[in-house]
Amino acid sequence: MTTNSAPTTALTHIAQLVTNDPSLGEGPLGLIQDAAVVIDGDRIAWVGPSGKAPATDNAVDAGGRAVIPGFVDSHSHLVFAGDRTEEFNARMSGRPYSAGGIRTTVAATRAAGDDVLRANVARYLAEGLRQGTTTQETKSGYGLTVEDEARALRIAAEQTDEVTFLGAHIVPPDHADDPAGYVDLVTGPMLDACAPHARWVDVFCEKGAFDGDQARAILTAGAAKGLVPRVHANQLGHGPGVQLAVELGAASADHCTHLTDADVDALAGSETVATLLPGAEFSTRATWPDARRLLDAGATVALSTDCNPGSSFTSSMPFCIALAVRDMGMTPDEAVWSATAGGARALRRTDVGRITPGARADLALLDAPSHVHLAYRPGVPLVSAVWHKGVLV
Ligand SMILES: [Zn+2]
Repeated sequence: MTTNSAPTTALTHIAQLVTNDPSLGEGPLGLIQDAAVVIDGDRIAWVGPSGKAPATDNAVDAGGRAVIPGFVDSHSHLVFAGDRTEEFNARMSGRPYSAGGIRTTVAATRAAGDDVLRANVARYLAEGLRQGTTTQETKSGYGLTVEDEARALRIAAEQTDEVTFLGAHIVPPDHADDPAGYVDLVTGPMLDACAPHARWVDVFCEKGAFDGDQARAILTAGAAKGLVPRVHANQLGHGPGVQLAVELGAASADHCTHLTDADVDALAGSETVATLLPGAEFSTRATWPDARRLLDAGATVALSTDCNPGSSFTSSMPFCIALAVRDMGMTPDEAVWSATAGGARALRRTDVGRITPGARADLALLDAPSHVHLAYRPGVPLVSAVWHKGVLV
Protein backbone atom coordinates (compact mmCIF):
# COMPACT_ATOMS: atom_id res chain seq x y z
CA MET A 1 0.00 0.00 0.00
CA THR A 2 2.91 2.33 0.69
CA THR A 3 3.66 4.48 -2.31
CA ASN A 4 6.25 6.69 -0.67
CA SER A 5 8.15 6.93 2.59
CA ALA A 6 5.17 8.21 4.61
CA PRO A 7 3.43 5.57 6.72
CA THR A 8 -0.14 4.72 5.77
CA THR A 9 -2.97 4.94 8.31
CA ALA A 10 -6.41 3.35 8.19
CA LEU A 11 -9.41 4.75 10.07
CA THR A 12 -11.69 1.76 10.49
CA HIS A 13 -15.16 1.02 11.86
CA ILE A 14 -16.49 4.48 10.96
CA ALA A 15 -20.22 4.23 11.76
CA GLN A 16 -21.06 6.81 9.13
CA LEU A 17 -18.65 8.39 6.67
CA VAL A 18 -19.54 11.60 4.81
CA THR A 19 -17.55 11.54 1.55
CA ASN A 20 -19.48 14.26 -0.36
CA ASP A 21 -19.06 12.01 -3.41
CA PRO A 22 -22.39 10.51 -4.54
CA SER A 23 -20.51 7.91 -6.59
CA LEU A 24 -19.03 6.46 -3.40
CA GLY A 25 -22.15 6.24 -1.25
CA GLU A 26 -25.73 7.17 -0.60
CA GLY A 27 -27.26 10.55 -1.45
CA PRO A 28 -25.57 13.90 -2.06
CA LEU A 29 -23.31 13.31 0.96
CA GLY A 30 -22.10 9.99 -0.45
CA LEU A 31 -22.72 8.33 2.92
CA ILE A 32 -21.07 4.99 3.67
CA GLN A 33 -22.02 2.96 6.77
CA ASP A 34 -19.28 0.97 8.60
CA ALA A 35 -16.60 2.55 6.45
CA ALA A 36 -12.83 2.87 6.41
CA VAL A 37 -10.50 5.54 5.05
CA VAL A 38 -6.82 5.07 4.25
CA ILE A 39 -4.47 8.04 4.50
CA ASP A 40 -1.17 7.96 2.61
CA GLY A 41 1.00 10.99 3.32
CA ASP A 42 -1.14 14.09 2.94
CA ARG A 43 -3.71 12.39 0.67
CA ILE A 44 -6.67 10.05 0.89
CA ALA A 45 -5.59 6.77 -0.72
CA TRP A 46 -8.67 4.58 -0.32
CA VAL A 47 -12.31 4.77 0.84
CA GLY A 48 -14.73 1.86 1.25
CA PRO A 49 -16.34 -0.70 3.54
CA SER A 50 -14.42 -1.29 6.77
CA GLY A 51 -14.15 -5.04 6.13
CA LYS A 52 -12.35 -4.50 2.84
CA ALA A 53 -9.75 -1.96 3.99
CA PRO A 54 -6.25 -2.80 2.73
CA ALA A 55 -3.38 -3.43 5.13
CA THR A 56 -1.69 -0.28 6.44
CA ASP A 57 1.18 0.67 8.72
CA ASN A 58 -1.14 2.15 11.36
CA ALA A 59 -4.81 1.78 12.23
CA VAL A 60 -7.21 3.92 14.23
CA ASP A 61 -10.50 2.35 15.30
CA ALA A 62 -13.24 4.98 15.01
CA GLY A 63 -15.33 2.82 17.31
CA GLY A 64 -18.74 3.48 15.81
CA ARG A 65 -18.31 7.21 15.43
CA ALA A 66 -18.84 9.41 12.35
CA VAL A 67 -16.17 10.97 10.15
CA ILE A 68 -16.73 14.01 7.94
CA PRO A 69 -14.46 16.07 5.68
CA GLY A 70 -12.66 18.90 7.49
CA PHE A 71 -14.71 22.09 7.34
CA VAL A 72 -13.91 24.64 4.62
CA ASP A 73 -14.49 28.08 6.14
CA SER A 74 -14.51 30.33 3.09
CA HIS A 75 -15.03 33.72 4.78
CA SER A 76 -13.25 35.24 7.79
CA HIS A 77 -11.45 38.40 8.90
CA LEU A 78 -8.63 37.20 11.15
CA VAL A 79 -5.94 39.88 10.67
CA PHE A 80 -6.90 42.32 13.40
CA ALA A 81 -5.91 43.57 16.83
CA GLY A 82 -8.06 44.49 19.81
CA ASP A 83 -11.62 43.34 20.39
CA ARG A 84 -15.09 44.91 20.60
CA THR A 85 -16.42 43.42 23.81
CA GLU A 86 -17.98 46.70 25.00
CA GLU A 87 -19.73 47.27 21.69
CA PHE A 88 -21.20 43.75 21.73
CA ASN A 89 -22.21 44.06 25.34
CA ALA A 90 -23.96 47.39 24.71
CA ARG A 91 -25.75 46.06 21.62
CA MET A 92 -27.00 42.97 23.40
CA SER A 93 -27.93 44.98 26.50
CA GLY A 94 -29.93 47.55 24.54
CA ARG A 95 -27.58 50.37 25.47
CA PRO A 96 -26.46 53.07 23.04
CA TYR A 97 -22.81 52.87 21.99
CA SER A 98 -21.59 55.70 19.84
CA ALA A 99 -18.00 54.72 19.07
CA GLY A 100 -17.18 51.30 17.77
CA GLY A 101 -17.62 49.68 14.42
CA ILE A 102 -14.98 48.69 11.92
CA ARG A 103 -13.10 51.96 12.55
CA THR A 104 -12.27 50.84 16.10
CA THR A 105 -10.62 47.69 14.77
CA VAL A 106 -8.83 49.65 12.03
CA ALA A 107 -7.24 51.93 14.64
CA ALA A 108 -6.17 49.00 16.83
CA THR A 109 -4.83 47.03 13.87
CA ARG A 110 -2.79 49.92 12.50
CA ALA A 111 -1.26 50.46 15.95
CA ALA A 112 -0.32 46.79 16.42
CA GLY A 113 3.06 45.27 15.65
CA ASP A 114 3.48 42.48 13.12
CA ASP A 115 4.04 39.97 15.91
CA VAL A 116 0.67 40.78 17.47
CA LEU A 117 -1.18 40.36 14.16
CA ARG A 118 0.74 37.18 13.34
CA ALA A 119 -0.07 35.69 16.75
CA ASN A 120 -3.76 36.57 16.39
CA VAL A 121 -4.03 34.87 13.00
CA ALA A 122 -2.29 31.79 14.40
CA ARG A 123 -4.56 31.77 17.42
CA TYR A 124 -7.80 31.84 15.45
CA LEU A 125 -6.57 29.36 12.84
CA ALA A 126 -5.69 26.97 15.68
CA GLU A 127 -9.04 27.60 17.33
CA GLY A 128 -10.84 26.73 14.08
CA LEU A 129 -8.66 23.67 13.51
CA ARG A 130 -9.55 22.26 16.92
CA GLN A 131 -13.19 22.55 15.85
CA GLY A 132 -12.58 20.76 12.56
CA THR A 133 -11.76 23.60 10.15
CA THR A 134 -8.94 22.44 7.89
CA THR A 135 -9.22 25.10 5.16
CA GLN A 136 -9.56 28.73 6.21
CA GLU A 137 -9.92 31.76 3.97
CA THR A 138 -9.10 35.11 5.54
CA LYS A 139 -9.07 38.76 4.49
CA SER A 140 -7.35 42.08 4.97
CA GLY A 141 -9.60 45.08 5.54
CA TYR A 142 -8.54 46.55 8.89
CA GLY A 143 -5.46 48.35 7.57
CA LEU A 144 -6.91 50.51 4.78
CA THR A 145 -3.57 52.11 3.88
CA VAL A 146 -1.22 50.74 1.24
CA GLU A 147 1.29 49.61 3.85
CA ASP A 148 -1.21 48.24 6.37
CA GLU A 149 -3.22 46.28 3.79
CA ALA A 150 -0.08 44.77 2.24
CA ARG A 151 1.19 43.88 5.72
CA ALA A 152 -2.08 42.16 6.64
CA LEU A 153 -2.03 40.06 3.48
CA ARG A 154 1.62 39.16 3.89
CA ILE A 155 0.96 37.95 7.43
CA ALA A 156 -2.16 36.03 6.37
CA ALA A 157 -0.34 34.39 3.46
CA GLU A 158 2.30 33.04 5.84
CA GLN A 159 -0.40 30.90 7.44
CA THR A 160 -3.07 30.12 4.82
CA ASP A 161 -3.30 29.77 1.02
CA GLU A 162 -6.71 31.41 0.81
CA VAL A 163 -6.06 35.13 1.16
CA THR A 164 -8.41 37.92 0.09
CA PHE A 165 -7.64 41.59 -0.51
CA LEU A 166 -10.41 43.65 1.11
CA GLY A 167 -9.00 47.17 0.92
CA ALA A 168 -12.59 48.14 0.10
CA HIS A 169 -14.01 47.19 3.50
CA ILE A 170 -15.06 50.73 4.42
CA VAL A 171 -13.90 54.19 3.36
CA PRO A 172 -11.43 54.94 6.19
CA PRO A 173 -11.88 58.10 8.30
CA ASP A 174 -8.81 59.68 6.68
CA HIS A 175 -10.65 59.58 3.30
CA ALA A 176 -14.14 60.39 4.61
CA ASP A 177 -14.36 63.53 2.47
CA ASP A 178 -12.94 61.88 -0.63
CA PRO A 179 -14.39 58.42 -1.24
CA ALA A 180 -13.54 58.63 -4.96
CA GLY A 181 -9.91 59.27 -4.04
CA TYR A 182 -9.99 56.19 -1.82
CA VAL A 183 -11.32 54.04 -4.66
CA ASP A 184 -8.44 55.35 -6.81
CA LEU A 185 -6.03 54.32 -4.07
CA VAL A 186 -7.56 50.84 -3.75
CA THR A 187 -7.53 50.24 -7.51
CA GLY A 188 -4.06 51.77 -7.92
CA PRO A 189 -1.11 51.70 -5.51
CA MET A 190 -2.89 49.57 -2.88
CA LEU A 191 -3.80 46.88 -5.39
CA ASP A 192 -0.27 46.90 -6.78
CA ALA A 193 1.14 46.33 -3.29
CA CYS A 194 -1.45 43.74 -2.30
CA ALA A 195 -2.02 41.60 -5.40
CA PRO A 196 1.20 39.57 -4.99
CA HIS A 197 0.02 38.32 -1.57
CA ALA A 198 -3.61 37.49 -2.39
CA ARG A 199 -5.70 35.10 -4.47
CA TRP A 200 -9.02 36.96 -4.22
CA VAL A 201 -10.38 40.52 -4.30
CA ASP A 202 -13.45 41.47 -2.28
CA VAL A 203 -15.62 44.57 -1.75
CA PHE A 204 -18.16 45.43 0.93
CA CYS A 205 -20.91 46.50 -1.49
CA GLU A 206 -23.49 48.07 0.80
CA LYS A 207 -25.10 51.42 1.59
CA GLY A 208 -22.52 53.29 3.71
CA ALA A 209 -19.61 51.33 2.26
CA PHE A 210 -19.16 51.03 -1.54
CA ASP A 211 -21.88 51.40 -4.17
CA GLY A 212 -22.30 49.28 -7.29
CA ASP A 213 -20.13 51.45 -9.55
CA GLN A 214 -17.31 51.65 -7.00
CA ALA A 215 -17.51 47.92 -6.37
CA ARG A 216 -17.39 47.20 -10.10
CA ALA A 217 -14.30 49.40 -10.51
CA ILE A 218 -12.49 47.67 -7.63
CA LEU A 219 -13.39 44.10 -8.63
CA THR A 220 -12.54 44.74 -12.28
CA ALA A 221 -9.18 46.26 -11.37
CA GLY A 222 -8.45 43.29 -9.11
CA ALA A 223 -9.39 40.82 -11.83
CA ALA A 224 -7.02 42.59 -14.23
CA LYS A 225 -4.25 41.84 -11.70
CA GLY A 226 -5.20 38.16 -11.59
CA LEU A 227 -7.35 38.22 -8.44
CA VAL A 228 -10.71 36.45 -8.58
CA PRO A 229 -13.68 38.45 -7.26
CA ARG A 230 -15.86 37.62 -4.26
CA VAL A 231 -18.34 40.14 -2.87
CA HIS A 232 -19.84 41.11 0.50
CA ALA A 233 -23.35 41.46 -0.93
CA ASN A 234 -26.86 42.25 0.29
CA GLN A 235 -26.09 41.86 4.00
CA LEU A 236 -27.87 44.89 5.46
CA GLY A 237 -30.36 45.64 2.71
CA HIS A 238 -31.20 45.18 -0.94
CA GLY A 239 -28.55 46.39 -3.38
CA PRO A 240 -26.54 45.65 -6.48
CA GLY A 241 -23.94 43.33 -4.86
CA VAL A 242 -25.38 39.95 -5.78
CA GLN A 243 -26.13 40.84 -9.41
CA LEU A 244 -22.69 42.37 -9.77
CA ALA A 245 -21.05 39.26 -8.32
CA VAL A 246 -22.87 37.05 -10.82
CA GLU A 247 -22.18 39.39 -13.74
CA LEU A 248 -18.44 39.47 -12.98
CA GLY A 249 -18.23 35.71 -12.44
CA ALA A 250 -17.34 36.06 -8.76
CA ALA A 251 -16.57 32.84 -6.90
CA SER A 252 -19.10 33.78 -4.24
CA ALA A 253 -21.59 36.36 -3.09
CA ASP A 254 -21.35 36.46 0.68
CA HIS A 255 -24.16 37.19 3.20
CA CYS A 256 -27.13 37.18 0.73
CA THR A 257 -29.53 38.14 3.51
CA HIS A 258 -31.75 40.56 1.56
CA LEU A 259 -32.50 39.11 -1.88
CA THR A 260 -35.05 39.92 -4.56
CA ASP A 261 -36.42 37.13 -6.74
CA ALA A 262 -34.10 38.40 -9.50
CA ASP A 263 -31.11 38.04 -7.13
CA VAL A 264 -32.08 34.47 -6.30
CA ASP A 265 -32.59 33.63 -9.99
CA ALA A 266 -29.22 35.17 -10.88
CA LEU A 267 -27.43 33.05 -8.27
CA ALA A 268 -29.31 29.90 -9.26
CA GLY A 269 -28.35 30.36 -12.90
CA SER A 270 -24.67 30.94 -12.20
CA GLU A 271 -21.49 29.37 -10.85
CA THR A 272 -21.39 32.02 -8.10
CA VAL A 273 -21.85 30.38 -4.69
CA ALA A 274 -24.20 31.99 -2.16
CA THR A 275 -22.19 32.01 1.06
CA LEU A 276 -24.34 32.41 4.17
CA LEU A 277 -22.82 33.63 7.44
CA PRO A 278 -25.30 33.04 10.25
CA GLY A 279 -22.85 34.07 12.97
CA ALA A 280 -23.34 37.67 11.80
CA GLU A 281 -27.12 37.56 12.09
CA PHE A 282 -26.83 35.81 15.46
CA SER A 283 -24.40 38.40 16.88
CA THR A 284 -26.36 41.40 15.63
CA ARG A 285 -29.88 40.01 16.16
CA ALA A 286 -30.57 40.53 12.46
CA THR A 287 -32.92 38.78 10.02
CA TRP A 288 -31.69 35.33 9.01
CA PRO A 289 -30.79 34.66 5.38
CA ASP A 290 -33.29 32.28 3.75
CA ALA A 291 -31.21 29.29 2.75
CA ARG A 292 -34.31 27.28 1.83
CA ARG A 293 -35.30 29.80 -0.83
CA LEU A 294 -31.83 29.66 -2.41
CA LEU A 295 -31.63 25.87 -2.30
CA ASP A 296 -35.11 25.41 -3.73
CA ALA A 297 -34.19 27.73 -6.60
CA GLY A 298 -31.10 25.63 -7.33
CA ALA A 299 -28.35 27.92 -6.02
CA THR A 300 -25.19 26.45 -4.50
CA VAL A 301 -24.96 27.43 -0.82
CA ALA A 302 -21.88 27.57 1.39
CA LEU A 303 -21.81 28.16 5.14
CA SER A 304 -19.02 30.11 6.79
CA THR A 305 -18.22 31.80 10.10
CA ASP A 306 -17.40 35.39 9.00
CA CYS A 307 -15.13 35.28 12.07
CA ASN A 308 -14.36 38.92 12.95
CA PRO A 309 -14.25 40.94 16.17
CA GLY A 310 -17.27 43.11 15.41
CA SER A 311 -20.25 41.25 13.99
CA SER A 312 -19.45 37.53 14.31
CA PHE A 313 -16.72 36.57 16.73
CA THR A 314 -17.06 32.82 16.28
CA SER A 315 -14.66 30.39 14.61
CA SER A 316 -17.07 27.50 15.02
CA MET A 317 -18.44 25.85 11.89
CA PRO A 318 -20.54 23.42 13.99
CA PHE A 319 -22.23 26.46 15.56
CA CYS A 320 -23.02 27.83 12.08
CA ILE A 321 -24.43 24.44 11.05
CA ALA A 322 -26.73 24.41 14.07
CA LEU A 323 -27.98 27.94 13.31
CA ALA A 324 -28.53 27.15 9.64
CA VAL A 325 -30.63 24.11 10.50
CA ARG A 326 -32.59 25.78 13.28
CA ASP A 327 -33.23 29.15 11.67
CA MET A 328 -32.45 29.14 7.95
CA GLY A 329 -34.43 26.18 6.68
CA MET A 330 -31.53 23.88 5.90
CA THR A 331 -31.68 20.15 6.54
CA PRO A 332 -28.81 18.73 8.62
CA ASP A 333 -27.46 17.03 5.47
CA GLU A 334 -27.54 20.28 3.49
CA ALA A 335 -25.83 22.23 6.27
CA VAL A 336 -22.98 19.72 6.59
CA TRP A 337 -22.53 19.69 2.79
CA SER A 338 -22.48 23.52 2.69
CA ALA A 339 -19.89 23.71 5.49
CA THR A 340 -17.56 21.31 3.66
CA ALA A 341 -18.16 20.82 -0.09
CA GLY A 342 -20.01 24.15 -0.35
CA GLY A 343 -17.07 26.05 1.11
CA ALA A 344 -14.75 24.23 -1.29
CA ARG A 345 -16.95 25.36 -4.22
CA ALA A 346 -16.82 28.93 -2.91
CA LEU A 347 -13.02 28.71 -2.97
CA ARG A 348 -12.99 26.82 -6.27
CA ARG A 349 -11.16 23.92 -4.69
CA THR A 350 -11.61 20.28 -5.68
CA ASP A 351 -8.97 18.85 -3.33
CA VAL A 352 -10.76 19.72 -0.07
CA GLY A 353 -14.31 19.39 1.29
CA ARG A 354 -14.57 15.72 0.30
CA ILE A 355 -13.17 12.37 1.35
CA THR A 356 -12.28 10.67 -1.91
CA PRO A 357 -9.12 9.04 -3.24
CA GLY A 358 -6.65 11.76 -4.22
CA ALA A 359 -8.23 14.47 -2.06
CA ARG A 360 -6.22 16.13 0.71
CA ALA A 361 -6.41 14.08 3.89
CA ASP A 362 -8.49 16.54 5.94
CA LEU A 363 -10.91 14.74 8.23
CA ALA A 364 -12.84 15.30 11.43
CA LEU A 365 -13.80 12.44 13.73
CA LEU A 366 -17.00 13.22 15.62
CA ASP A 367 -17.80 11.96 19.09
CA ALA A 368 -21.20 10.98 17.70
CA PRO A 369 -22.58 8.20 15.48
CA SER A 370 -23.83 10.57 12.77
CA HIS A 371 -23.07 13.95 11.20
CA VAL A 372 -26.67 14.92 12.06
CA HIS A 373 -25.52 15.35 15.67
CA LEU A 374 -23.69 18.55 14.65
CA ALA A 375 -27.13 20.22 14.50
CA TYR A 376 -28.91 17.90 16.94
CA ARG A 377 -26.42 18.62 19.77
CA PRO A 378 -25.73 22.37 19.42
CA GLY A 379 -22.91 23.82 21.45
CA VAL A 380 -21.41 20.44 22.29
CA PRO A 381 -17.76 20.03 21.23
CA LEU A 382 -18.30 16.90 19.11
CA VAL A 383 -15.13 17.16 17.01
CA SER A 384 -12.84 14.77 18.88
CA ALA A 385 -9.94 14.37 16.43
CA VAL A 386 -8.80 16.20 13.30
CA TRP A 387 -6.43 15.14 10.54
CA HIS A 388 -5.01 18.05 8.55
CA LYS A 389 -2.97 17.22 5.45
CA GLY A 390 -2.75 13.66 6.76
CA VAL A 391 -1.40 14.64 10.18
CA LEU A 392 -3.37 14.04 13.37
CA VAL A 393 -3.62 17.49 14.99
ZN1 LIG B 1 -17.09 39.51 6.02
